[in-house]
Amino acid sequence: MTAIYRACPVCGTGHESATLFFENNIDPEKLSSFSFASRKVPEFMCHRLVQCPTCDLVYANQPPSEDELSHAYHAADYDSSEEANDAAAAYMKAMQPTLHRMAHKQSALEIGTGTGVLLEHLSSAGFARLIGVEPSAAAIAAAPEHRQAWIRHGMFNENDFEPASFDLICCFMTMEHVRDPKVIASAAFRLLRPGGAFVTVTHNYHSIVNRLLGKRSPIIDIEHMQLFSNQSIRRLFDAVGLTQVEVKAFANTYSLTYWTRLSPLPGRVKDMALRLLKALGWDKTKLSVNVGNSMTVGIKPVAAP
Ligand SMILES: [Zn+2]
Repeated sequence: MTAIYRACPVCGTGHESATLFFENNIDPEKLSSFSFASRKVPEFMCHRLVQCPTCDLVYANQPPSEDELSHAYHAADYDSSEEANDAAAAYMKAMQPTLHRMAHKQSALEIGTGTGVLLEHLSSAGFARLIGVEPSAAAIAAAPEHRQAWIRHGMFNENDFEPASFDLICCFMTMEHVRDPKVIASAAFRLLRPGGAFVTVTHNYHSIVNRLLGKRSPIIDIEHMQLFSNQSIRRLFDAVGLTQVEVKAFANTYSLTYWTRLSPLPGRVKDMALRLLKALGWDKTKLSVNVGNSMTVGIKPVAAP
């Protein structure tokens, strides 16, 4: 991998003043095409992560290049399970207050759309023009045909879209994965109509769950180029000119099977727990848990230049 040090991708503070958060622990022999899939079984591998003293962001100071990332996501396998549906339902619920106060609900863009399941929900909520961007060909192939028509294959590129042409831009569980989160946030600002909303879902590395799990937290992931706290995600939104910024924790709802798969239990115990859930008929039972994810909403001011 290319060893070029980078400054903090949110506030620009030099990497030399950052403190070590986690040492690199990538085992090349364990890397698989599933390493870049969403909702995989955690592998607990990560790039060297440092913490910015200015804005609180944790970031890989020697991330792979844009090309390397693009290739990894293009080749990634996709797990097209019910978890994507569960996640989208939880996001829609958490977004309700934002959707309620939006004056226009005509066009929506989702960056990192997967199989486009959130777009389906947004369509039901009244959005007429739906566009998703997704780098994984396998994810798009797993989408129903009518959704495939909404999805563009590739990495997100601002120039593919008209400025001020969206009422809502969503980027869920993706801001950690991109090479430069500020590029995404400032592009979202330009692509929004005045009064439009940019909404992200990010892991909060300060949350109790993530602090308790430490090195065995699913946020410790080779895909993560940066990890946000509520302070650093707010700072990013402020920096690109978004206003009325709100950061709030929300609960994810998943099946007990999925929660068990995500858990830091050793492999053999996990297998036993999964078999037990199935035997008891509890494997499909849903459970809502606040696992330390935050939803952030920012509005493009109506009087923006
Ligand atoms: Zn910073």
